[in-house]
Amino acid sequence: MRWTQTYIPTLRQRQTEAELISHQLLLRGGYIRKLASGIYLYLPLMQRVIDKFADIVREEMNAKGAIEIHMSVLCPAEIWQATGRYLSVGKEQMRMKDRHDHEFVMCGTHEETVTTLIKGEVKSYRQLPMNLYQIQVKFRDEIRPRFGLMRGREFIMKDAYTFDATQESFDESYGKMVDAYYRIFKRAGMDTVKVESDTGAMGGRAAHEFMFLVDTNAGEEIVLICDKCGYAANVEKAEFRDTVKIDTKAEMKAMETVDTPGAATIEEVTAFLNVKAHQLVKTLLYMADQKPVAALVRGDRDVNEIKLKNTLGAIEVELATPTQIEEYTGAPVGFAGPVGLKNVPLIVDPLVAKLRNFIVGANANEKHIINVNLDRDFKATKVVDISLARGGDGCPKCNATLDAKNAIEVGNTFQLGTKYSDSLGAKFLDAEGKEQPIIMGSYGIGITRTPQAVLEKYHDEKGIIWPQSIAPYLVEIIPLSVENQAQVDTAERLYKELTEAGIEVLVDDRDERPGVKFNDADLIGLPMRVTIGDKSLKQGKIELKARSEDKVELVDVDKVVAAIRELAERLN
Ligand code: ATP
Ligand code: MG
Repeated sequence: MRWTQTYIPTLRQRQTEAELISHQLLLRGGYIRKLASGIYLYLPLMQRVIDKFADIVREEMNAKGAIEIHMSVLCPAEIWQATGRYLSVGKEQMRMKDRHDHEFVMCGTHEETVTTLIKGEVKSYRQLPMNLYQIQVKFRDEIRPRFGLMRGREFIMKDAYTFDATQESFDESYGKMVDAYYRIFKRAGMDTVKVESDTGAMGGRAAHEFMFLVDTNAGEEIVLICDKCGYAANVEKAEFRDTVKIDTKAEMKAMETVDTPGAATIEEVTAFLNVKAHQLVKTLLYMADQKPVAALVRGDRDVNEIKLKNTLGAIEVELATPTQIEEYTGAPVGFAGPVGLKNVPLIVDPLVAKLRNFIVGANANEKHIINVNLDRDFKATKVVDISLARGGDGCPKCNATLDAKNAIEVGNTFQLGTKYSDSLGAKFLDAEGKEQPIIMGSYGIGITRTPQAVLEKYHDEKGIIWPQSIAPYLVEIIPLSVENQAQVDTAERLYKELTEAGIEVLVDDRDERPGVKFNDADLIGLPMRVTIGDKSLKQGKIELKARSEDKVELVDVDKVVAAIRELAERLN
């Protein structure tokens, strides 16, 4: 391709809208443009990157026996009502009505559609297992679209769906996808960690996420990892072993209300009463689908809102407002407590249940109660783990310690069980002729998110450094002056030779100063650069340089193909 015949609008200035380096580079490199919040246009270079990554995904999916299809973006709302997700997905789902006033949803995922597709057609265990996938655009009205392609409202996903007759068969299908995922991300230049994750609105039995660990703030996710036994989980899901020493057998003392003037936060109360944070209990008031509920965790811990939401089976859980807190507890923020709290269910963390003689808010301004004990002084509606794990906590599976790491989720796999086949009636006849619901799995990969995520690692201060596997072209050829016929001829000759050898080339044939061309070459980040200048050309040579190295190699014009092949081998 010639630069003047394609469209690569590079930008010199830093783009203020882009917080992440990867987003910044895609904008400045002329890869993407924003049309509206969370809605991006993919320019020619980006389109090539997406195609390259999608092809890797296709190859690995096909190798596992998955079959590519294409499903519609629109889906009649009734199917989503049948599975209950019309309600549970809520505002993230884009919805619209057609001219007949018939409601449709714009799919953010396709479990409903694919189950409808196979139901009634896949009737016998002999037709199973089966794995259908597509690479297609998705719509989600994300609450916080940001970071360019990382969290868009319109984006491309590879989504696959497996259908199995037995649990053993499902486990095999799931294992194949996990294996394919490791291979896909590895080929795109990233090592990923598979972590346990929450099943969220997807439902089902269990789920895993494929995480790309990053040092930057690009990671919207936090994962907890045990280096010793390999336990790894998203913080939303993570369990932990508490390491605080507690005297669980201490004698219960008499409960007493004390004045705590000016002390409302954990820090203020612990300082005022001269106690440790773990001797306090936080009572946090939430609104779960518009109903109040109190979450009690130890003073040194935070509430894991996903665990709370799951235990309540709620669609939406959010912290109560100061007005709501006053309404339900009779006290301003900071003084809520379980003793005497009426009409509010109490969800109590097991670490609280173990405590003796703890301190809680007294539901009165500037007052706390000391020497409180569960069961004696108040009853829990439910005792269940709602604590957020954190780095430094004990590993739940061994005696080592958990590390917290920032990560970008690039893919995930869900064990759906029979949630969708039950609600939509996708059944098959087993070998004994008995009707059974099909066991399903669902598997997503961010086709637009992943290539951007790669850039969080593959860049330097000058720009992008693509891994060869997903680079838009392998080589950029730069004739230093397009006024110089010998240079232009050599560029044309190499363009032809390389292309014939199956090497993808971009020739910067613009009438620009060498400095401009070099800067743009570093910015767009093709893995190799061939520079054609007068001095070396007089000796029959060009300069070959890897984007990731400083070293420049002089190569005979006749031997460029071989030299590029050798360099490609070495860079891999
Ligand atoms: P997240 O937790 O990041 O919102 P998710 O759990 O909603 O992701 P899935 O529904 O399983 O993700 O989607 C599968 C894959 O699609 C994700 O692993 C991610 O790579 C990609 N993806 C999800 N949401 C977006 C988005 N808003 N923009 C770009 N890619 C996305
Ligand atoms: Mg999401």
